[in-house]
Amino acid sequence: MDKKIILTGDRPTGQLHLGHYVGSLQNRVKLQHEYKQFIMIADVQALTDNAENPEKVRQNVLQVALDYLAVGIDPKISTIFIQSLIPEIAELTIFYLNLVTLARLQRNPTVKDEMKQKGFGSNIPAGFLVYPVSQAADITCFNANLVPVGKDQIPHIEQTAEIVRKFNNVYGHVLVEPQALVPKDENVARLPGTDGKAKMSKSLGNTIYLSDSKDTIYSKIMSMYTDPNHLKVQDPGNIEGNTVFTYLDVFDTNKEYVQELKEHYKRGGLGDVKVKKYLNEVLQNILEPIRIRRQEFEKNPDYVMQILKDSTQVARQEAQKTMQEVRRAMKINYFE
Ligand code: ATP
Ligand code: MG
Repeated sequence: MDKKIILTGDRPTGQLHLGHYVGSLQNRVKLQHEYKQFIMIADVQALTDNAENPEKVRQNVLQVALDYLAVGIDPKISTIFIQSLIPEIAELTIFYLNLVTLARLQRNPTVKDEMKQKGFGSNIPAGFLVYPVSQAADITCFNANLVPVGKDQIPHIEQTAEIVRKFNNVYGHVLVEPQALVPKDENVARLPGTDGKAKMSKSLGNTIYLSDSKDTIYSKIMSMYTDPNHLKVQDPGNIEGNTVFTYLDVFDTNKEYVQELKEHYKRGGLGDVKVKKYLNEVLQNILEPIRIRRQEFEKNPDYVMQILKDSTQVARQEAQKTMQEVRRAMKINYFE
């Protein structure tokens, strides 16, 4: 039987961080053996809110690829490709745009949040508003069954499913309806930032990057958001919404010890610095091997770019197959 297909990806708007790691990268490393996996560096999507920053997007293509290799995505079994080099995605997007309404796009809660966060006001780039349609094209181009993503992406996968149903209804059954694979644990599906804000995000400056040095990790942890009312060590502290404990829940496998720390903190007598130092140990242990592997690949950027070049060709062939079927179904295969 053919393997089921995964499509995932990231915007090359910065290096990848712990949120990506738990929300999505870990799943990909695991699933690449069971599924045929396509991983997209979404430069076209990155340009929807970085049109005036082409250099940033270009540089981060390599950075994101380095992060993939560092966490253990194996380019021999996963196909890592660059979105803008698959023109079929742009073609599909144009056709899908006829199957959605403006009102539907404006209702997307993730897009609404992001528009507010980016302060577009009424000057929303049209390309930004329709990026979920382009994402539907990314996914369906590869006939993906499964899309491992963080929680913010659920509305986009729902939008994709609607487009697929509409397309298949109008033109005949061609497209595969995908499903989102979101981590069950709420904190994993949307890891909060070091500032305690709802989501660790490149755009919010509240990240711990996979490539951060030992010292940077330490100082980011030391300035992490905890319980603002926990002023003296002997005071009872609050663990709800206390980012240091949220991170321990997510990253420390020693659940019993975390439970003990929580009880102690709630009782009083356990200082923030002590908990933070422990979290530092836990995170350094996870991030050190990733950083070391990354540094190895950093020495050879040409090798990494060659992987992208070769894999993009493989991906393009898949996309061309789908596009041919779409053309037939839409009766625009005039000279076939
Ligand atoms: P940007 O701020 O430029 O949008 P981002 O940090 O949100 O960047 P994306 O490239 O948009 O990162 O997201 C890539 C993938 O990582 C998506 O599947 C997203 O759901 C997931 N992801 C991003 N941030 C987190 C997080 N804090 N927790 C869990 N998953 C996350
Ligand atoms: Mg994002």
